Amino acid sequence: MAAEVRQLVLVLGDQLDRASSAFDGFDPARDSVWMAEVDAESTHVPSSKARTAMFLSAMRHFADGLRAEGFVRQILGWREYVCGISWTRKPGYLDLDALDALDAHEALPAFYWRGDVPMACLADAIGSTLAHGYAHHIQRLMVTGLYALRLGVAPRELHAWYLAVYVDAVEWVELPNTLGMSQYADGGLMASKPYAIRAGGGVP
Ligand SMILES: Cc1cc2nc3c(=O)[nH]c(=O)nc-3n(C[C@H](O)[C@H](O)[C@H](O)COP(=O)(O)OP(=O)(O)OC[C@H]3O[C@@H](n4cnc5c(N)ncnc54)[C@H](O)[C@@H]3O)c2cc1C
Repeated sequence: MAAEVRQLVLVLGDQLDRASSAFDGFDPARDSVWMAEVDAESTHVPSSKARTAMFLSAMRHFADGLRAEGFVRQILGWREYVCGISWTRKPGYLDLDALDALDAHEALPAFYWRGDVPMACLADAIGSTLAHGYAHHIQRLMVTGLYALRLGVAPRELHAWYLAVYVDAVEWVELPNTLGMSQYADGGLMASKPYAIRAGGGVP
C-alpha cells in the first residue's frame, strides 16, 4: 500500500502566524504541526521568567487555536462542504468523464465483501465494516480507499461497495468522499491532489 503523503509543519516560537505560507494546504485531519524552540533562543541573551512564560503561553494558545480550527471544521464546516460539492454537481457526479479518464478498470477484490485477506490492516478495516457497518474515516480513506486506488479499481465499483456496507451511507456524502477524496476520480473537484499514485495495475 502507498505511503500516505502527510505534511509536518515546524513552528518556532516567533512564527505564531496562522496566515503563514507554511500552512498553505494544511489539513488538520491529515497533517501535523510540531512546535518547538531552539535552546539558544533562551540562552544567547538572558531571559526573564515572565518573558519565557509569556513565550510558552503564546505557543500553547496558538496550538489550542489550531486544534479548535480542526474541530470546528470537522463538526461545523466539512460536512456542509461535502454536501455543497454533491448538490452543486448533481445530477451527473457519477457520470463525470474524469471517472473514466483515470483508466482504472480493475474489479473490486472479492475480499472486500468477505474480509478474508491476509493483510492485517485491510482485514481489520473490512472485518469491522462488515460486522458493524462502520469504520473510522481514516480506515475508509487510507486503508480500503487507498488500496483500491493503488490497485486501479473502477471508481463506480468501489462506490457501490461503500454505499452498500456503511450504515451512514447516503449518496450525497458517500460520492464526494469516495470518488473525490479517496479516489481522485472527480478530476479534482473535491481534493487538490491524489493521496497516492497508482501502482500501474495488478496487486501492489
Ligand atoms: C471513502 C469514504 C466514504 C465515506 N462515506 C460516508 C458516508 O457514506 N456517509 C457519511 O456520513 N460519511 C462518509 N464518510 C466520511 C466519514 O468517514 C464519516 O462521516 C465518519 O467516519 C463518521 O465517523 P465519526 O462520527 O467518528 O466522525 P468524526 O471524525 O468524529 O467527525 C465528526 C463528524 O463530522 C462529519 N464528518 C467528518 N468527516 C467527514 C467527511 N469526510 N464527510 C462528511 N462528513 C464528515 C460527520 O458528520 C462526523 O460524524 C466517508 C469517508 C470516506 C473516506
